[in-house]
Amino acid sequence: MVRSEMAFELVCTVCGFRHDGSRYRLHCDRCTGLLDIEYDLPPGTGARTVPGLPGLCRYAPMLPIKDPAGFVTLGEGNTPVIPLHGVGRDLDLRLLFAKLEYFNPTCSFKDRGNAIQVTVLKDLGITAAVDIAGGNAGHSLASYCARAGLKFIGFGYEDPQSPKIRAIEQTGAEIHWIEGDRRDCSEAMAEFCAANGILNLRYSQSAYFIEGQKTIAYEIAEQLDPLPDHIMAPVGNGSILLGLWKGFREMVEDGRIQAIPRLHAVQSEAFRPLVAVIEGYDWRPSLHADTVAVGIRISEPPRLAALASACQGSGGTAVAVPEASILRWYRRLASSDGIFVEPTSATVIAGTATLIQRGRIDKGDRVLTILTGYGLKEPIPESAATAN
Ligand SMILES: [Zn+2]
Repeated sequence: MVRSEMAFELVCTVCGFRHDGSRYRLHCDRCTGLLDIEYDLPPGTGARTVPGLPGLCRYAPMLPIKDPAGFVTLGEGNTPVIPLHGVGRDLDLRLLFAKLEYFNPTCSFKDRGNAIQVTVLKDLGITAAVDIAGGNAGHSLASYCARAGLKFIGFGYEDPQSPKIRAIEQTGAEIHWIEGDRRDCSEAMAEFCAANGILNLRYSQSAYFIEGQKTIAYEIAEQLDPLPDHIMAPVGNGSILLGLWKGFREMVEDGRIQAIPRLHAVQSEAFRPLVAVIEGYDWRPSLHADTVAVGIRISEPPRLAALASACQGSGGTAVAVPEASILRWYRRLASSDGIFVEPTSATVIAGTATLIQRGRIDKGDRVLTILTGYGLKEPIPESAATAN
């Protein structure tokens, strides 16, 4: 099945104005609100797989791509779900599972979003793009750009020696180094793009990226029957949580599932903007705030209200976990189950422990944790050796 052009629209999350997919859009033309993608399909035809198409392509009717034949893939998706027997025993939780997103090609969940993002760029004839170089997102984006023959220009502001930056260098990407913080880096990118006429991707605001992330919900529905009672996701910018929420809602609308699992967001105590919104207090990061969970070291996620809707609309919540608990479960995952992930991923087990203590998760519940990134993509924290 090949969808005709314009089978999707970008709808403003603030004023509802609808835009066609003829160019790369991050914001509403009328009010600058962020956008969501909607599809015009008869009921019962949407959240289904297309037989014969590989990887994420099999969900083509519900993706913003023109032609599955042009799909940019490195073999992402189809990540395993396994039971966590050891950590489950530690938590006295019999039905604890993990979806191993580090099985994606660049060893993190970002590959789902970037496969779609870069396919859209290619569809639109865009040949070069700029974004922040750093983290799993930068490594993934640089890799998909290399695969598609697009020039990737990355802007970095911290840690030039990190394994992820070194990996980005291998893709042939051009990297510009900026003195300052993330905000300075964003300003420098905007100036560079305006001066050179090159697209500023800003993936963390992108509706296309979330469309890639929602495929995780489709896969979970194929892999776990019955669906889990709870899903635990680490939240920085929150694209997994937003993807889960959108994917499950599409399946409900399509009549494929009846109810959505409770979606719980896990943040570190040092960076907890979503927890603050849900619990109703003002929050700003302290001056020297830091966390070993570097993947969720985000103080201003662009879709904060939507993240709160995903938690509350599904009957879930958001929880902040302390550093000691992150490190304890980082190590226990490796020692009890042989699973070596980034500290960011271990937050979901720490969050599960907290929700059990609070009575939000019962011992007989089915709990799925999303393990987002592989352990060797980050230096191993010195303090992990003594965590228990
Ligand atoms: Zn608008």
